[in-house]
Amino acid sequence: MPLPFIPEPPPSTQSHEYWMQEAIREAYKAEAIGEVPIGAVIVLGDQIVGRGHNLRESSKDGTAHAEMIAIREASETLEAWRLLHCRLYVTLEPCPMCSGAIVQCRIPLVVYGAPDPKAGCAGTLMNLLQEPRFNHRTEIVPGVLQDECASLLTQFFRKLRKKS
Ligand SMILES: [Zn+2]
Repeated sequence: MPLPFIPEPPPSTQSHEYWMQEAIREAYKAEAIGEVPIGAVIVLGDQIVGRGHNLRESSKDGTAHAEMIAIREASETLEAWRLLHCRLYVTLEPCPMCSGAIVQCRIPLVVYGAPDPKAGCAGTLMNLLQEPRFNHRTEIVPGVLQDECASLLTQFFRKLRKKS
């Protein structure tokens, strides 16, 4: 039987910037295969338990966002659907789907890089992570390595426009 609850690990000895660099590494993996460069990692204590990068085009799956892939991997690693004590680092503010998944999985902290004016549901368009009517609320740390995360995206789309 898997543990119903994940025991609380000692706090991370690394900064949010350190873990965001890992999410950025994931974003580069997406870019390398022609995907929009968005990456995510899920961290428990000082351990990465889930990684993901955007695979929407290559998997032809509109749900293959970086966060969804990282969440699935973390649940597998921890054998739990409740990702207690976990922190999700993502280069772009989560969309409505991923914000919903974050709430469903009870992730207590989300750290994101760039805000998303077109789909951001962690405070920009709406705030699904801190909706008082839901049974779970997530702490949010916005804007960590924001410039680096945002320029990954602007450079990608600039190159794409040049090609076409
Ligand atoms: Zn998403």
